[in-house]
Amino acid sequence: MSVFEHKSFDNHEKVLFANDEKTGLKAIIAVHSTANGPAIGGCRMWSYADSAEALTDVLRLSQGMSYKNIMADLPLGGGKSVIMKPAGEFDRTALFEAFGRAIDALGGLYYSAEDVGVSPADILNARRETPYVVGLPGGTGDPSPVTAKGVFLGIQVAAERALGKSDLSGVKIAVQGATGHVGAYLVDHLHKAGADLFLADINEPAVSELARRVGATLVDKDRIYDVEADIFAPCALGSVINENTIDRLKVKAVAGAANNQLATREMGAELQKRGILYAPDYVINAGGIINIMGDLDPKFDARWVEGKLKVLKSTLAEVMDRAESEGKPANVVADKIARERIAEAAEKKAKAA
Ligand code: NAD
Repeated sequence: MSVFEHKSFDNHEKVLFANDEKTGLKAIIAVHSTANGPAIGGCRMWSYADSAEALTDVLRLSQGMSYKNIMADLPLGGGKSVIMKPAGEFDRTALFEAFGRAIDALGGLYYSAEDVGVSPADILNARRETPYVVGLPGGTGDPSPVTAKGVFLGIQVAAERALGKSDLSGVKIAVQGATGHVGAYLVDHLHKAGADLFLADINEPAVSELARRVGATLVDKDRIYDVEADIFAPCALGSVINENTIDRLKVKAVAGAANNQLATREMGAELQKRGILYAPDYVINAGGIINIMGDLDPKFDARWVEGKLKVLKSTLAEVMDRAESEGKPANVVADKIARERIAEAAEKKAKAA
């Protein structure tokens, strides 16, 4: 397994491999960049096939957090951690305490929070060993409503650009993962804005009830790509824009909450070729991380959060302007702007040192 030569290494500042024989902890903490502040990103626990798979996952996620945080203009860097879920029975409390000690060893370069497979209670256990955790119970709470608000603003921008519509009334929007934490709040915003909704979720009773409540059309989870809608909002899984789905899309824009919507970077160009506008996921789904800032300092209050969500809207407009004028896919332009901003922050930091 290569590390420095890994295709997703992307100049990471630090990668910590933490091994604790007593508790069975095998974790990787990746700090992509601290140029603009301490790295923040959640901890994911997953049954990885091997450490190579875990490393690939953490490096990609960590780079993504750097890009998301800098595009939201937060005083943060980007990082992420993964725990290789031990096979069989294990002491979860002891495991997360050991994980806390691993975070602590980085002395505040990296703050962790929950992600897939990790609960706020797990993070509380890590908290016994380190102050460098956020998203605890009693803190800023569920980030999903704020994420949904940001995605809603992103969809407004997409509708303006792709459809020439200054409001969403009558705009046909297909939401995948409609009853999820983010999806459900997003559906409420879209419904209030008068959108004509098409909803899909694997949770059939919940999505039927939601569709009935908001007067939406219920769509089979496997048919959501085929809907004759204006906008597709993926709010469930990653990699949903892929070679099997792209030719089924009838929409003019894709804008949703899910992380890593494009299966490959090239899918951005494929969307562009088909005249489908793409709102890069990490630009419009940053509401949750914006909200979590309140755990670091009370000055990042609800008013500050609202202001930041507006910045997110203007950042998306900047990405789309540049994509149009340079004739490049929006995801490629967003990555480029993120890298430019990180390089600028690194230069400033070096000058100040
Ligand atoms: P969630 O698990 O609450 O919601 C996902 C929803 O998708 C569930 O209702 C699930 O039933 C549904 N689903 C799963 N597979 C599906 C399929 N094949 N077809 C249709 N529906 C399916 O998760 P969430 O917190 O709402 O997050 C949704 C997405 O947004 C994830 O990709 C997540 O990484 C991303 N995201 C979330 C936040 C946040 O604040 N929660 C922030 C940034 C990004």
